[in-house]
Amino acid sequence: MDSEPPVELYFFPFVGGGHQIPMIDTARVFAAHGAKSTILSTTLSNALRFRNSIHRDQTLNRRITIHVLDLPNDAAPPDTSMSAAPFTDTSVFQQPLKQFLTQNPPDCIVIDIFHRWASDLIDSLGIRRIVFNGNGFFSRCVMHNVSRFRPHEKLGSDSEPFVVPGLPDRVELTKSQLPVFSRNKSGPDKFGQLEDKSFGVVVNSFYELESKYADYFKKELGKKAWGIGPVSLCNRDEADKSERGQAASFDEENMKWCLNWLDSQEPNSVVYISFGSLARLSYKQLIEIAHGLENSKQGFVWVIGKVCTSENENHENEENWLVGFEKRMRESQRGVVIRGWAPQILMLEHKSVGGFVSHCGWNSTLESVCAGVPMITWPLSAEQFSNEKLITDLLGIGVQVGSKEWASWNMERKELIGREKVEDAVRKVVGGGDEAVEMRKRARDLAEKAKRAVEEGGSSYAEVDALISELKSLKKKN
Ligand code: UDP
Repeated sequence: MDSEPPVELYFFPFVGGGHQIPMIDTARVFAAHGAKSTILSTTLSNALRFRNSIHRDQTLNRRITIHVLDLPNDAAPPDTSMSAAPFTDTSVFQQPLKQFLTQNPPDCIVIDIFHRWASDLIDSLGIRRIVFNGNGFFSRCVMHNVSRFRPHEKLGSDSEPFVVPGLPDRVELTKSQLPVFSRNKSGPDKFGQLEDKSFGVVVNSFYELESKYADYFKKELGKKAWGIGPVSLCNRDEADKSERGQAASFDEENMKWCLNWLDSQEPNSVVYISFGSLARLSYKQLIEIAHGLENSKQGFVWVIGKVCTSENENHENEENWLVGFEKRMRESQRGVVIRGWAPQILMLEHKSVGGFVSHCGWNSTLESVCAGVPMITWPLSAEQFSNEKLITDLLGIGVQVGSKEWASWNMERKELIGREKVEDAVRKVVGGGDEAVEMRKRARDLAEKAKRAVEEGGSSYAEVDALISELKSLKKKN
């Protein structure tokens, strides 16, 4: 073992699922590479969610701990659920963070971009700051060039396609697929500025997945970045996979039923449906999905999270209809509905699961890639429409359901994707046609490359080591 003191990194994740989960994995990856990782957690209950995985790492002699930042007296805690909104204000932790950093300065702190207030504080303390924003290289290049060249401003309508200028490939989007906040000219890009002033950014991706865009990001856009993923691959233990994020909403008996049912299905015949930790669909849309799934005649595991409802409407009939559907599907052994949270990696890795209806959140995308499962892309918000282009047009590992409308996670959308579109897309991916066979081959090839990337000698493995070495040499100079 190295006699020098290890490089010490702090990780300050944002609570929302799509941000917290990969940052915890990132901290674990760095500890597995010999660094000392400390996760700064914002409440005790939040820390408890991933405590078991951290404990297992500790028994492997990895240097990883959780430090809980205490809430100042009388302060109200911000939302700490997996579905915390992207702009949840966490600045109540300013003082505890300052105190901890002043007393125990690390070699570097990796912070989530959503803790917007924290960057200035960290910079004022002279501590090296690395930014994590949860996205891949491709979508970052797309969004960068959209805001730089503003091609959507010259269009006649929101549905007219435009080509994103300057990229290595022809990438088409419509104005309606752009985040609302990036459509209109606004003030300076605060997030971009916080990144530009940082030591660099860590990106949960691997070179072989989006090599042209990793290069473009670093060389053309001049960003200092380390591609260190897919970090979800650090979850090798079954227990890590089944508890990841939070405990599954199914009790033991129901989960056993679900896994037994999956075991009894043909390989690659079942579709897994989930829209991530945050997105909410309306009852109307859920009912279209239900019909589409039933009509496709394919098996399914469908995770239904929170539903988008309006206060003045009564949804009792729709809810009753869904409950009846759920019961009918289960009794006829056609499919399973999980209300709440599912162990996504376990599900995707099951040999019967052959397709993933996904909102194209970046973590879900990577997890599908790692499992070699082709996708049915149904982007809703954030940078998901760019991810869809990567999955379907560039990598050829998915089919589009036909979503065209970007809307914020909690807004009711005008667009309704009909049952025929759902049925058609599901059949294309898990119905056994030639197109599906080709997509599956490409997805499996990428899954192999992902695994190689994080092993010794792989591209992401080398990037993690490179960052640790750089921090080590800076430590010597100090
Ligand atoms: N996730 C999960 N079970 C669920 C819903 C989500 O394990 O029932 C995990 C999923 O595996 C992924 C993360 O939550 O790691 C969601 O991140 P993503 O970027 O896909 O979407 P977001 O939630 O940020 O929209």
